[in-house]
Amino acid sequence: MAFYSQDDSADDYLFKIVLIGDSAVGKSNLLARFARDEFYPNSKSTIGVEFQTQKIEIKGKEVKAQIWDTAGQERFRAVTSAYYRGAVGALLVYDISRRQTFDSIGRWLNELHTHSDMNVVSILVGNKSDLKDGREVSTDEGKSLAESEGLFFMETSALDSSNVTAAFETVVKEIYNILSRKVM
Ligand code: GDP
Ligand code: MG
Repeated sequence: MAFYSQDDSADDYLFKIVLIGDSAVGKSNLLARFARDEFYPNSKSTIGVEFQTQKIEIKGKEVKAQIWDTAGQERFRAVTSAYYRGAVGALLVYDISRRQTFDSIGRWLNELHTHSDMNVVSILVGNKSDLKDGREVSTDEGKSLAESEGLFFMETSALDSSNVTAAFETVVKEIYNILSRKVM
């Protein structure tokens, strides 16, 4: 099982993590906030980097998270199997102000399980938590879906930065923990 890839230095780990979820839920902005502390108020779904590598230190070791963005492929339901290949982590993102994006999570989970290992460490992310007046999905609904599917859960806001780093780091740390249990 290709659970991780080891870089040139023996102490370096590189984890591929994929962002998935419907168009306009904020995937590209979550990545922009996490990796560059930037936010784009009117971003277009086609704009975005293919992937971005971010260093995270865990227990004195440097871990590189290579985070992949769909860059608009999802609009055509055409996220390729190459996108998922080798992924060890996933953020399944919906928009708390659009119920339809929450209803799509089941389909994204199926797709993830079809194209990747069952052991992909996944977190359900309810983004746009700043849109309090427009909320269509309660925190409890998110929580209980995550519990029933065995996912971590967090509500985030790429706009006000809330929980963005925490969401990515939860996945990276769990991958690291699983890995260190396996090799040590
Ligand atoms: P993607 O298609 O999933 O990559 O979504 P984008 O990152 O392109 O975001 C779609 C739109 O939602 C953009 O206009 C963003 O400015 C906006 N957006 C993204 N994240 C947030 C957030 O946390 N709060 C609010 N209020 N808007 C957001
Ligand atoms: Mg995008």
